Amino acid sequence: MPCKAYRPEDDFNAIHLSPQCADEGDGRLWCEDDQGPCDDCGQPSVKFIRADLVEKAIAGLRSALTTAQKALTPLAEAAESLDVNHLDSYDLWEAPAAMSITAGNLRQTVTALAEVNLALDAAPTKSLTPDAPC
Ligand SMILES: [Zn+2]
Repeated sequence: MPCKAYRPEDDFNAIHLSPQCADEGDGRLWCEDDQGPCDDCGQPSVKFIRADLVEKAIAGLRSALTTAQKALTPLAEAAESLDVNHLDSYDLWEAPAAMSITAGNLRQTVTALAEVNLALDAAPTKSLTPDAPC
């Protein structure tokens, strides 16, 4: 019988390994559903998330972070050129270094940081855990 082509999306998004203390000599139980911590000692089960989902999330986060770093560059350069006597509590308009910062720089920074948050929200979480019991 020929093997069917593998498709990651046909596999579980995440599976759980029972707590270490649940091993009574014949190994630990793998389960699609989180069985929760040990009733006796509270030791947690271990969640494993499918690698392709994690890799996709990391790529999204890396892209969002790169965009954020580019957006923050003008602000970082301005900060580096501030006079050492310019205290954190001083308004920036008093510093020549601030002259290079534009409204667009600030808007791009806000947008880029929002993209990082969206990428974090899209990362694998408990929402990937299937509801079906073992
Ligand atoms: Zn236990």
